[in-house]
Amino acid sequence: MNQNSRLRIAIQGAVQGVGFRPFIFRLSKELNLTGWVLNSSQGVFIEVEGSKTILDRFMLRIQSEKPDPAFIQSFEASFLDCVGYEGFSIRESRDEGAKTVLVLPDIATCPACLAEISDPNNRRFQYPFTNCTLCGPRYSIIQSLPYDRAQTTMSGFEMCQACAAEYQNPEDRRFHAQPNACPDCGPQLAAWDQQGNVLESGQDALLLSVEQLQAGKIIALKGIGGFQLLVDAGNAEAVERLRKRKKRNEKPFAVMIGSVTAVKQVCRVNAFEERLLCSAEAPIVILDRGDASDRSSIAATVAPGNPTLGVMLPYTPLHHTLMSQMGRPIVATSGNISDEPICIDEDEALKKLSDIADFFLVHDRPIARHVDDSVVRMVKGREMMMRRSRGYAPMPITLKQKCSGVLAVGAHQKNSVALQIGNNAFVSQHIGDLETEESVVSFQEAITSLCRLYDAKPDLIVCDQHPDYISTRYAESTDIPVKQIQHHHAHVSACMAENQLEGPVLGVAWDGTGYGPDQTIWGGEFLLIGDQSYERVISLRPFRLPGSAKAVKEPRRSALGILFEIFGKSVLDMTHLPLMQSFSEKELQVLIGMLQTGFNSPQTSSIGRLFDAVASLIDLRQTISFEGQAAMELEFTTHGLSDEVHYTCSLADTVDWAPMINELLDDIGNGTGPGLMALKFHNCLVEMIVQVAKKVDVEKVALSGGCFQNRYLTERSIDRLEAEGFRPYWHQRLPPNDGGISVGQLFAAGQKKQSYC
Ligand code: ZN
Ligand code: ZN
Ligand code: FE
Repeated sequence: MNQNSRLRIAIQGAVQGVGFRPFIFRLSKELNLTGWVLNSSQGVFIEVEGSKTILDRFMLRIQSEKPDPAFIQSFEASFLDCVGYEGFSIRESRDEGAKTVLVLPDIATCPACLAEISDPNNRRFQYPFTNCTLCGPRYSIIQSLPYDRAQTTMSGFEMCQACAAEYQNPEDRRFHAQPNACPDCGPQLAAWDQQGNVLESGQDALLLSVEQLQAGKIIALKGIGGFQLLVDAGNAEAVERLRKRKKRNEKPFAVMIGSVTAVKQVCRVNAFEERLLCSAEAPIVILDRGDASDRSSIAATVAPGNPTLGVMLPYTPLHHTLMSQMGRPIVATSGNISDEPICIDEDEALKKLSDIADFFLVHDRPIARHVDDSVVRMVKGREMMMRRSRGYAPMPITLKQKCSGVLAVGAHQKNSVALQIGNNAFVSQHIGDLETEESVVSFQEAITSLCRLYDAKPDLIVCDQHPDYISTRYAESTDIPVKQIQHHHAHVSACMAENQLEGPVLGVAWDGTGYGPDQTIWGGEFLLIGDQSYERVISLRPFRLPGSAKAVKEPRRSALGILFEIFGKSVLDMTHLPLMQSFSEKELQVLIGMLQTGFNSPQTSSIGRLFDAVASLIDLRQTISFEGQAAMELEFTTHGLSDEVHYTCSLADTVDWAPMINELLDDIGNGTGPGLMALKFHNCLVEMIVQVAKKVDVEKVALSGGCFQNRYLTERSIDRLEAEGFRPYWHQRLPPNDGGISVGQLFAAGQKKQSYC
C-alpha cells in the first residue's frame, strides 16, 4: 500500500538568503509535490505531500543538492497525514506575537572548520575547539539568554586579536560566533593520570591519549556535553576490562567510527542511515550488522549477541583529530557510574571515574549542562528517536494546541522535562532515571534552566499519577497548580502530539511499568482517547509479580506469576522447565506462598513483564543485567526469520495470554527452536492489537510505550493494521519510551484544560 503522506521538515541553519526557498520550490515542482515552504524567525519549514517513495527522494535530494553556501544545523522530519495541498507556494513569513528565540543544540563540526583543522598551514590546524557560526557547542555552553559570549561558559576566555577581528567582521564565517577560539586564546587540552597529575598538555595530550588507546587503555574524555569512556573497539580484552570496571556486563556499547566508508565495512548502511550519520545532529545510529566483511575491528564483547550496532561519526574537532590518529573504531560510552548523569566537570570525573579510566583527556572549557549522545534508529523507513539529547535538545516539538507557561516534569525512568510556550514544546535533554541524588539535581537544574532560557514562569505543572515518583513529588512541592496525567495516557498523547492527531484514537500503550489509578501496575493498555478524556477499553489479563521490584530484574519471577495464574500450585510439578530449575526449592516455596497470599506480589497487566515471562519460559534469560534485556533478546532471536505463524490470543474482558502460554508450553515440550517460539509470540502480540482494533473499531491506532522500541513488533503491527484497513501511527521525533512522556503530559493537559491556555 502506498498511501500519500505529508512530510513536514523543520530546518535550522545557514539556509536563509542563499536561494534555499527557490531551491525547495524547484525541487518540489520537479517531483510533483504539493505544499509550501516558509521562512520565519524560527527557521525554515517545509510541508509537502506525495507518495512515500517520492518524499524519501525529496529528503535525500535536499541534503545532496542544496545550494552551495547552505549548511543545515538541524533537520527534523516527520511523516504526517495529508491535508490536501494543491500546488506549491512560497509562503510569506508571518511572525505573530512574541518571538521566541530558539536555543540551538550542539552542532557537529562543519566542512569548512573540518578543512581548517586538517590544513597544516592553517592557524587552527588540529585545534580541538575550532568552531564557527555554523557549528560547535551551543546548548552545552549557554548559561542564559541572550546568547552572547558573556553568558556562555566561554566568558572566561578573552579573544586574541585575530579571533576578535573575525568575530567583528560581518563578512567572516565567525562573525558573532560566540565560542570562537584558537590555539592562542581558547581552551586547551590536558592529559591527566588517575591522580590528576598533568602528563601532557595541548596537542601532545591528544597524541598521548591515542597512544594509550592503542595500548588498550581506557580513556575518560571530556567531550562537548560531558565525559565519554573510550577504548579500542577491536581489543576484546580492553573492552572486557571496561565492562568489568563499569559494572556493565552485557548492555551494548556504542562505537565511534572515523568515516561512513569505514562504517560500511562493519554494518549495513542505507541512504537514510547515511544521512543521519553525517547530519549535523550526528546521533548514534542503530545499524544492522548484516554480513559485513570486517568483524575484527569490533570485538564481539562490544555488543554481545546483538545483530545491531550503535554507531556514530566524530562530531567535534577533538573527536575528528583523535579518530584520524587512531585509525580504527573505538567504543564511546557515557562517562558515568551507573544511573548517574554523565560527568561534566573534570574534578568530579577524576573522583568518580578513576576506578574505571586509566587516563583522562580533559580541557578547560566548562560545560553548562550534561548532554548525552542521542540514539536514533530507522523504523519502517522513518527515523525513530530512542534517546533525544545532543543535536536535538532543546529544539521544540510543534504542537497543534497553543498554551503558554506549562511545565511537564515527565516520569521516573529516562526522564526528560518539557516547557510549552505557544505551539512549541521545548524538550530538555535526556536526564536519565531519577534514581540517584545526582540525577535528581540534574532534573531540577534542567527545569530551572529551561524556564530561565525561555523566560517562563509556569502557571501549571503536569506530572505522572504515581504518588512516589520524585518528579510527582517535585511538582507537588511547588506552589504552582498541578495536573496529573496517567502514565499510559501520556504515552499515547505523546504519539498523538507528534503525529498531530485528534481523537478518537485507539492508543496501544505497552511498556514495563506505569501507575494505574486502580493501584495495580499497568503496562498492557488499550486506551480510547477522546478529546477530553481517556477510557481504558481493554488491557492485558493481570498476573502477580512475586517480589514486586525484584521481578523486574528476574524474568523467571514473571514466568512463575503467569504459570501460577494458570496452574495454581501444580506449577511446582513443572520441574522440566529450566525456569523452575533455576530456583532453589526454598525459593520456590517462598514465592508460591507470596503468590497465594498476594504478599508483596502486586497485580500487573504489563506487556514488558509478559516479554520477560516468555524469555524465561524458553530459557533465553532467567535474570537480567539491564532494563529491557530479556525483551531485546527475544526480538534478536527472531532475527532473519519470517513466518505468519502465531500463538492464539483470546479476547474477552481482557486480552488473555493463557492460550498462548499453553501453546508455548507445547512447543517447549516438542523441542521447537527458540527463534520460532519468539516469532510466534511476537506475531501473537500483533494479532492482539489487530483484534482489539477490530473490536473497538476506531480507524486511528497510536502505538506507544517502551515495547515499541522493538522494531519487529512495531513494523509488523504497522503492516498488519494497515492490511486490515486501520491507520497506524508511531513515534518519530520523540522516543516511544518514557523519554517522550513529558511532551505527552503537555498534550494531554492541554486537551483537558483549555482554560489554562
Ligand atoms: Zn564550522
Ligand atoms: Zn584566538
Ligand atoms: Fe512507560
